[in-house]
Amino acid sequence: MNGSRPEAEMRQAVLLAPRRLEVQSKPLAEPGRGEVRVRVAYCGVCGSDRHIYEGLEPELTYPVVPGHELTGVVEAVGPEVGSVDVDNPVAVFPLVACGRCRMCEKGFINLCSDARFVGAHGIPGGFATHAVIPSCSVVPIEGSRLQQGVFTEPLAVAVHAADAAAVQGKRVLIVGCGTMGLLMVQMMKLRGAKEIWCVDRSHLRVVLAERLGADTGVALVPEEEEATSQRLQEWAPEVVFECVGAEASLNLALQSAEPRATVVLLGEHVVTPRARVILVENRELILRGICIYPRSAFQEALRLVEQETVLVDPLISRTIGLEDLPRVLGGHTEEEHPGVKIVVKPNSESERCWRKGDEETSGEVSPAGPQE
Ligand SMILES: [Zn+2]
Ligand SMILES: [Zn+2]
Repeated sequence: MNGSRPEAEMRQAVLLAPRRLEVQSKPLAEPGRGEVRVRVAYCGVCGSDRHIYEGLEPELTYPVVPGHELTGVVEAVGPEVGSVDVDNPVAVFPLVACGRCRMCEKGFINLCSDARFVGAHGIPGGFATHAVIPSCSVVPIEGSRLQQGVFTEPLAVAVHAADAAAVQGKRVLIVGCGTMGLLMVQMMKLRGAKEIWCVDRSHLRVVLAERLGADTGVALVPEEEEATSQRLQEWAPEVVFECVGAEASLNLALQSAEPRATVVLLGEHVVTPRARVILVENRELILRGICIYPRSAFQEALRLVEQETVLVDPLISRTIGLEDLPRVLGGHTEEEHPGVKIVVKPNSESERCWRKGDEETSGEVSPAGPQE
């Protein structure tokens, strides 16, 4: 029983060159060998999408259809696809590793030297009504959790980062309360950190972090930066997660850390910072980078989202259509909501099957297409 009838056309937000994003219509792509076509339900806007938009992502060739935090429903299955069924709701594990290089052979597919990524390297992503992706990338998800499911991807980064340092019974500082920071707060709670502090420039985000489990939220006021840094240093966190990817946040992380602390870097430093490396030496800090995540972290993240062990609804600022994306990525909108994640719902305007009030993501709304 297949209620969906494939439309003849699909729409994609195509980034032709840095800062040149266009929503284009094209014939509906058919899945090739080993591929499936997913009708996209939701796709989160990530910091790295902004980097791609700005042209800051190294080794990326344009045009590209960004969007790697997607969920949807399998609509068509190509030849030689094993265990994927049409109409199944899925989340997307966006990393496609080569399986042959040295790091793949060692089991670290997230460090594959020839990795491709949905929404970045050669695989059109989720800022589209439909996405054709390798069948190994789709992972079944609870049908009622498609909107929350976009957080599986960033939460997988948080799970992988949480695995990078022993935090049980320790003082943990989280620098930055964007999506990653707010997910880290919750991960630290789950992993048994003794005390969790977080710091951000936005007072609203700090309040949100406290609501989600941080013991102390510190709002960084420009005139008091010195005093704040002093206060954090006196508290002396044993593990620090840098979740911003900027020079000031990196140095704040290094400056706050207790000697012999582990400082985990999650924020993507696309611009090379001037870091106070002397602090790493004088305090014998351990610096640990985080790159994507293994499949096991993605599976754990999916479970945490499905079971609502990690709360993601408070993180959603708003849901937008595909047409709004150029404005949002171009930074022409001001976010007042303390939430941090904008979620694209690419099929929301073209389809009448989305009922009213569907902002609340009721489970019965079928994203599978117009019902006959
Ligand atoms: Zn992401
Ligand atoms: Zn590889």
